[in-house]
Amino acid sequence: MHRNLDQFIKFLQIPSISLDTAAVNKALDYILDYFSDIKDKLNIHTFYCNNKRSLLITPEAQRFNKLKIILNGHADVVDAPIEFFSPKIKGDKIYVRGDYDMKGGLFAGMIAFKKLIKANNNLPIGLQVVPDEEIGGFDGTLCQLKKGVRSQFMVALEPSNLNITIAAKGVLWIEVLAHGKAAHSGYPWNGQNAIKILVDFINALDKHFPNPTKKAWQTTYNLSQISTPNKTMNKIPDKAILKVDIRYVPSDKTKLEELFMQIRDKMPIDLNYLMFEPAFHTSTQDKYIKALVDVLKTNHPTFKYEKRHGSSDVRHFAKYEIPGIEFGPTGFGSHQADEYVEWSSILELAKILEEWILKVV
Ligand SMILES: [Zn+2]
Repeated sequence: MHRNLDQFIKFLQIPSISLDTAAVNKALDYILDYFSDIKDKLNIHTFYCNNKRSLLITPEAQRFNKLKIILNGHADVVDAPIEFFSPKIKGDKIYVRGDYDMKGGLFAGMIAFKKLIKANNNLPIGLQVVPDEEIGGFDGTLCQLKKGVRSQFMVALEPSNLNITIAAKGVLWIEVLAHGKAAHSGYPWNGQNAIKILVDFINALDKHFPNPTKKAWQTTYNLSQISTPNKTMNKIPDKAILKVDIRYVPSDKTKLEELFMQIRDKMPIDLNYLMFEPAFHTSTQDKYIKALVDVLKTNHPTFKYEKRHGSSDVRHFAKYEIPGIEFGPTGFGSHQADEYVEWSSILELAKILEEWILKVV
């Protein structure tokens, strides 16, 4: 077996589910061990937020607030039974939980980083390894940014089939509390049904942001939960609660905020933002992207630009106005039982990253 593949398989066998801090720490230790032969050339910056450990590995002489490029990878994976962590190799494909999303991309970053630092231990680059992307990235990537980590550009090594993801939707979670008036069911004119108020709210939302029936770069919403504390059949409920998960395109942010302001004035509701995370959109004219395109033209000329409907840690960098992309290996099935990554694309990705970094730093 290829030595790198052998090492990769060991990495995949660690069941580093986001909420299992001990297992995620094992994955981080594995990475430190991978770099042990060049550790005298490195500066390992360790960060903690809410007892979650993350790493930023840089060349020894580099300061973490003045890097040019950060390669970002999450070592955590989504929940799965233990048998999902036994890799099965079929030709070029490796089937196992979390290899496409995203130990494969992270491992490519590790290969490239090691090779680059072995040749020149003064490059202004960092390898950022975080423990919690799948549960929001607040104690990993955002924690490091809050503590002063900065770069001119970043790459999240998320699965992208060697395409360049230049944009992703933002996430807005809202909670709507409807205030009606209780009355006997037989006398509806004496009350105001709180569930009916929520129906009116849903209709207003749908009028402005109807869900597309097929894949489209449009704002969408999901009615995630609806409930009422009312337990009585013959009573008009005076309280009802709705939770909505909205995924918005960058240009709709203001329109959404304005709509909710208007609705708050018109309807007997309280509307709270539970989470409001930015979208990102990086220009294809960015010099780092242009240089990557040059490298791809010779190495992988079929690449495309893509926009993603889910979010990633790139959005945390967007909060600090640091442009970024998602760029990772080929495979299929993030978060699914039949997830796989193609080993050859990991080696290809490592080579592309190496060439690109030498071009731009
Ligand atoms: Zn991911």
